[in-house]
Amino acid sequence: MNCLGLRFGDEMIIIDAGMGFPEETPFGVDISIPNFDFLEDYRHELIALVLTHGHEDHIGALAYLLRKFNIPVYGSRFTLALAEKRLEEFGMLDDVLLHRVRANDVIEIGTFKVEFIHASHSLVDCFSLAVKTPLGTIIHTGDYKIDDTPVIGAPYDLKTLKRIGDEGVLVLLGDSTNATVPGRTPSEQAVIPAFEEIFEQTTGRIFVSTFSSSMHRLQIVFDTARMFGRKVCVLGRSMQKNVEIADDQNLLQFDPNDVVTLSEARAMNDDEIVYLVTGSQGEVRAALWNLATGTYKGMEIDKGDTVVLSARIIPGNEKNISRLIGHLYKRGANIIEEKRRLIHVSGHASQEDIKIMVETARPRYLVPIHGEYRMLFRHKEYVKNHVPGYSDDNIFLIENGEVLEFDEYGGRILEKRELFKTFIDEESSEEIEYDIIRERRKLAYGGAVSLVVSIDRKTGELAGEPQIEFQGVAGVDPTNGFAGDARDAMSAAVSAMKSEHIADRNFLKEALRLALKRYIQQELGTKPVIVTTIVDV
Ligand SMILES: [Zn+2]
Repeated sequence: MNCLGLRFGDEMIIIDAGMGFPEETPFGVDISIPNFDFLEDYRHELIALVLTHGHEDHIGALAYLLRKFNIPVYGSRFTLALAEKRLEEFGMLDDVLLHRVRANDVIEIGTFKVEFIHASHSLVDCFSLAVKTPLGTIIHTGDYKIDDTPVIGAPYDLKTLKRIGDEGVLVLLGDSTNATVPGRTPSEQAVIPAFEEIFEQTTGRIFVSTFSSSMHRLQIVFDTARMFGRKVCVLGRSMQKNVEIADDQNLLQFDPNDVVTLSEARAMNDDEIVYLVTGSQGEVRAALWNLATGTYKGMEIDKGDTVVLSARIIPGNEKNISRLIGHLYKRGANIIEEKRRLIHVSGHASQEDIKIMVETARPRYLVPIHGEYRMLFRHKEYVKNHVPGYSDDNIFLIENGEVLEFDEYGGRILEKRELFKTFIDEESSEEIEYDIIRERRKLAYGGAVSLVVSIDRKTGELAGEPQIEFQGVAGVDPTNGFAGDARDAMSAAVSAMKSEHIADRNFLKEALRLALKRYIQQELGTKPVIVTTIVDV
């Protein structure tokens, strides 16, 4: 859910608007975004959204932000292509102003002068930003690693970073995702030998699963396939879409004849084909899961197949991945994971990369960003201990919602604003109110009970027995007679009521709900959601 506001005077730009994937999934919700209500106070000051790169945790909340605050968007060609895809899904493409920028462009946005620095990362066409303000320059690294030999595009542009450093940098906001990892992050090219070995040793079909955004990795699969005389078949919607966009923009290099459709692939020999598939995190709707469980149309994974899981396990996905691997083993597939072979490298700066960043930009102040508090803390500790000139005085450890203020005297944490998450329904892409999450939570823990009571219109008395149905309530089963006892208790409750109370349907409804609630709590010790309906007959 990366999102940062940068304000000078009465103008504010937003850097990135990402979505998050909560680890403890709250009752059927897999996606969260920042609650943008806090920006209401700045509504008339917002002048632009600047995107560092196209990963979901940086652009995923774009449409929700722009729906509330329609401001112009700046980003690279590839980032904007991904952003357009999102806006299209929301039917907003025609309403949003998108400005395409290139590395080394300097764009004036109000008081701010934003210089876009080419950054290397697991994705392509990424930026670090140098935002010049009248007070000084602020560098936002975006996600980065210092890759001297990326597969696609140029190395991290340290030359420009150094020039900006020489001109003077007030604050550096630095990626902390890998701040706990010693050494340098290996180059994207580091996985090539393992891929070549795997392709050389394998005679059966190969399935490579990686993130559909890991462009360097996709290029390596295309290159290795060509080297070993295999054609590539791309499966999974996001993978197909991203390959198409990257191909349109000449970011991926492959011969169109090297890519085949599923029906063409099926007609080929096992050693002539490699499948590039989505689902490395064990996502149950993705191609790899379906291939592993026999639910992919027209194709399944079989004995003799080799599956390469070329991605890191994102925390929270361990169980799903473990289940996926179980299914693959059952089918007799050979599985290659990153623990056993160098088939994955991170896209984020490790400690030595962070050192290069800080030493090159030489900011007066450092603010670790991106990642959990543990990582921000280690970022600070590492720089304090390994880069001269940095101490508790000029490294700010801030948490979500904290406002950091700089002026000619220095910097300080001004206040902490309370920030909220907004949950998103994956099916409809709509925001889910917090009350609904609370209700789902109650349903999940207590189950549901429906009580229907019929009242005779003429006599004002109970007509027949109340009907009670239990769903997912612990302690209730058809044989233990609890349902019958509860029904009798509700009959008694109605009989004991005064006729004027029965005549007031709203009163009756609430009184019966409370009576049933108390009864169940007393007898079973649980608190299900109770729905009461009164029917006049
Ligand atoms: Zn990223």
